[in-house]
Amino acid sequence: MPRNHLAVVTMPPFDDGSGYDADLAAKAQRWLEQLDDIWLACRYNHAFPKILPRNGRLPRGVDASPVPGRTGFYQISQTCRDCRIVRTYTCQGDLFARNRSYSYDWPEGYKMPKGASAYITADDINAERTRRVLETLKTLPGWSELAADAELALA
Ligand SMILES: [Zn+2]
Repeated sequence: MPRNHLAVVTMPPFDDGSGYDADLAAKAQRWLEQLDDIWLACRYNHAFPKILPRNGRLPRGVDASPVPGRTGFYQISQTCRDCRIVRTYTCQGDLFARNRSYSYDWPEGYKMPKGASAYITADDINAERTRRVLETLKTLPGWSELAADAELALA
């Protein structure tokens, strides 16, 4: 039997089937399939500009502004060069403190539907990312065989 006739059935991470929500699983799958290419490419891998002033200016995509009413506190925002998502944090002096926590402005549709993380793993997201990239890669000279091997690995 040729390998491409084998089907792998993805099992959701529910031990006994309790709590499994077929509608939510389908919604999660649709979300992943319809996720914008740039958001999929950027997921876990945003290109936030470094906070590194040059010539007396912050780099494009980095903003700093004082927090009103809190002397010495600044709010720093960084805009992803690729997908334009903005992350923000507040600091006092130590710009690179380990405990800084970011807040994000997520555009509509970027975030997984609520509860979908039980159905979509980071591996699923990477597999979808790979599948989409391979669609283009296999059209490039010399890439078709490599793309075919990668597709078999995903099956
Ligand atoms: Zn991004």
